[in-house]
Amino acid sequence: VLCAAAVLFAVAFGAGACASLRFGRAAAAPPARNVILLIGDGLGAAALTMARNYHLGAAGRMHIDELPATGSCTTYAVTEEDPRRPDYVADSAASATALATGRKTSNRRVATEVGTDAPLPTVLELAQRAGFRTGLVSTSTLADATPAAFASHIDYRWCHGPASMSACPKSSSMFGGPGSIVEQLVETRPDVLFGGGRALFAQPIPAGPHAGRTVAQAAVARGYRVIETAADIATLAPGAPALGLFAEDNFTPIWLPSLASFPAGPAERCRPAERPADQPTLVQMLEAALRLLSPGDSEGPGFFLMAEAAMIDKRAHSADACGQIGETVELDRAVAVARSFAEKNPGTLLIVVGDHDHTPQIVDPKYAAYVPGMTTTLATADGAPMTIAYATSYFGMSQQHTGTQLPVFAFGPDADEVIGLIDQTDIFRIMLQRLGLDDAAAGRGAK
Ligand code: MG
Ligand code: ZN
Repeated sequence: VLCAAAVLFAVAFGAGACASLRFGRAAAAPPARNVILLIGDGLGAAALTMARNYHLGAAGRMHIDELPATGSCTTYAVTEEDPRRPDYVADSAASATALATGRKTSNRRVATEVGTDAPLPTVLELAQRAGFRTGLVSTSTLADATPAAFASHIDYRWCHGPASMSACPKSSSMFGGPGSIVEQLVETRPDVLFGGGRALFAQPIPAGPHAGRTVAQAAVARGYRVIETAADIATLAPGAPALGLFAEDNFTPIWLPSLASFPAGPAERCRPAERPADQPTLVQMLEAALRLLSPGDSEGPGFFLMAEAAMIDKRAHSADACGQIGETVELDRAVAVARSFAEKNPGTLLIVVGDHDHTPQIVDPKYAAYVPGMTTTLATADGAPMTIAYATSYFGMSQQHTGTQLPVFAFGPDADEVIGLIDQTDIFRIMLQRLGLDDAAAGRGAK
């Protein structure tokens, strides 16, 4: 309409005005479309509140709290037997599949459809196909369910590497399949893959075009630069795709574990862990990923980046409040970095969300002795005791996920879509909209 008006204006008052007007419009090209999805694995409202209480005090505000758009999202999975029936407590595979593909699946499935095993196209794959740069960053192994669901497709999440394919024979390269999760990540070839899991990438591939190579060697054959230390990450220049393998398995948590006990113990303070010098922080990985995906060309193709703080969930399974809080504080630092990038690059949508809720509850310290499970009491930044109960499983057993809706936070264009109660699958739709790919996936985004 504006253009037509400009043409009419030009016809009436001379072609010169039209030319300069049109030139002006062309010079102010819209900024690159970018999506940064920050996932806190297991980041429920309780995990967030306990990090705020401990780190800044109850009235404090973290960077995540300052994001302007907030809503809630439901996280249920569906059952394998009947995909019309909800499974109220999702695992990280089904929930990452919902975020990555806009489709519900059953627990333990990675971006595959219940019943048919069909691969579900992911936001990363759709973005890559449309010419966007792409990246995955995690503090767990890159084969873990959250990063896996954005760039691989398999019906059982634990088929991490070529040596652990007994439960996924159809996918094995021995039988002509696409291979384990790490083999598929390399084949999908995002521009950035930063995380743990070096041991998985050292496994030999038994058959197919990369037979006899390790997965890391297959990555080199696919054009990857492979790096292994925090020092390497600082020197990476934009160019060929980068595979950073900074730990044999998962990363070392930022803070030392607290000791949950039954009955309740005395109040304690968290202490930082001595992390291996070669392991970067989530913030260092995020900064490097942003540098590689957005190398100064503000009109460039744009990018999709998922970065995950994976340990909030893993430390919750171990009833470790300090481990959870340390990783949440680190995620919050990453939020500040991502927001500042989004402020400088106005086409950028930032979304911060968990994937499923988890065990911890903030309970009244006066009744800690009556909690039928483990508790930890921490002395917070307020100088007050905060008692956290872990009681979704017996003492010494892995604590379990829970099914409560999660807070979602957003900043940037399309952030106003993150309001009220949405579902995880809506986040997929909102991300595609920001990338301008919603038409390409029309009819597939909804539940
Ligand atoms: Mg995860
Ligand atoms: Zn978990």
